[in-house]
Amino acid sequence: MFFFIVQFPDQWIIINYELSFTLVGSGTAGSVLAARLSEDADVEVAVLEAGPEETVYPNHNVPLEFFTLQNTEADWAYRTVTQKNACLGMEEQVMTIVK
Ligand SMILES: Cc1cc2nc3c(=O)[nH]c(=O)nc-3n(C[C@H](O)[C@H](O)[C@H](O)COP(=O)(O)OP(=O)(O)OC[C@H]3O[C@@H](n4cnc5c(N)ncnc54)[C@H](O)[C@@H]3O)c2cc1C
Repeated sequence: MFFFIVQFPDQWIIINYELSFTLVGSGTAGSVLAARLSEDADVEVAVLEAGPEETVYPNHNVPLEFFTLQNTEADWAYRTVTQKNACLGMEEQVMTIVK
C-alpha cells in the first residue's frame, strides 16, 4: 500500500495506491533499478526523490565544478561528528562529507 500526496495550490489530495515496488532515491542505483523493474508491464514502480531538479545546480554537470557544490544542500551538507583521533587540523575536529 502506498499513499501519494498531491499538492494543489489550495488543497492536498491523498491517493491510496497499490504498487509492486517503491524505490527511495533516484540516483544512479535507484534510476537503473526503476528502469529495469518497469520493463515488466505487470509491475508498478514508484520512485521517491528528495533532491531538486538537476537544473537547480547547473554546475553539477561539470565535473571540475563539483567542489562548488560542497557543503551546500546539493550534497546534503553532511558533516562528521567531532573526531577524537582524526581531522586534527580542522575546526572542532569536524570534516564535511562530500556526497
Ligand atoms: C563529485 C563527484 C563526482 C563523481 N564522479 C564520478 C564519475 O566520474 N564516475 C563514476 O562512476 N562515479 C562518480 N562519482 C560517484 C557516483 O556519483 C556515486 O558512486 C553514485 O552516484 C552512487 O550511486 P547511488 O545510487 O548509491 O547514490 P546517489 O546517486 O547519490 O543516489 C542517492 C539518491 O537518493 C536521494 N535521497 C537521499 N535521501 C533521500 C530520502 N530520504 N528520500 C528520497 N530520496 C533520497 C538523493 O537525493 C540521491 O538522488 C562521483 C561522485 C561525486 C560526489
